[in-house]
Amino acid sequence: MKLVVAANLLLALLLSGGCLPAWTSDTKGHMFGYDDHNGPSHWAEEYETCAGKFQSPIDIEEHLVTQVRLPPLHFHGFQSEPISSTVTNNGHTVMLQMNMSKMASVSGGPLKGNYLFTQLHFHWGYNDSVGSEDTINNHTFPLELHIVMYKENYGTFENATHYKDGLTVLAVFYEIYETENQVYSEIVQLLPFVTMPNSQHQLKKLITLDSLLPMTKHLYFTYNGSLTTPPCLEVVTWIEFKQPILLSHYQM
Ligand SMILES: [Zn+2]
Repeated sequence: MKLVVAANLLLALLLSGGCLPAWTSDTKGHMFGYDDHNGPSHWAEEYETCAGKFQSPIDIEEHLVTQVRLPPLHFHGFQSEPISSTVTNNGHTVMLQMNMSKMASVSGGPLKGNYLFTQLHFHWGYNDSVGSEDTINNHTFPLELHIVMYKENYGTFENATHYKDGLTVLAVFYEIYETENQVYSEIVQLLPFVTMPNSQHQLKKLITLDSLLPMTKHLYFTYNGSLTTPPCLEVVTWIEFKQPILLSHYQM
């Protein structure tokens, strides 16, 4: 049985506190941040779209969520090893880009069409109790992964951001556990090499996208939202897996 949990759009808008900024650098050259003077409540001064009605992140209250049945999600190329993978500190976050012979993609579920992989990145906090952007029942997870994909029909990522159904982000939450997670060790070991903005490092052991996702992939929350940093474009179909992945305190 495929049971999908779709989040209601009327949920409260939650502005993330103590969370490192991420997503993209600002293409207009404006400054934005997460402090009192330049934080999310000020973004709409420069970017009208940040005051929209469908802004992310949100708090997902499970008792307000409507359960719906959707077609199954299809993951294409998620089990293929990339030719190479590069970890980059882009000044906002740690981002992983993969060079693949055939770009991985996702379709089905709430999506109409095929969405191609662009990059993935992490959001985390200053300690284990804060970090994720979205929250579930007001619970914040210490780490959140965003796998960013754009609709193939729109040709490029940039072009896709002009359409309401242009992007999808697969989000994974993490919880602390006592043992290390072998798959993630490879990424964690590289972090000391990319502490400076614009620094880059190649992954030695190639990991697949599938290995970064939870085992249970048919249970997820989905809603139409936005990019979580300026220009906050409301072009994202969010797919947030319900099952968290376990990492040790050290890895976090
Ligand atoms: Zn993100």
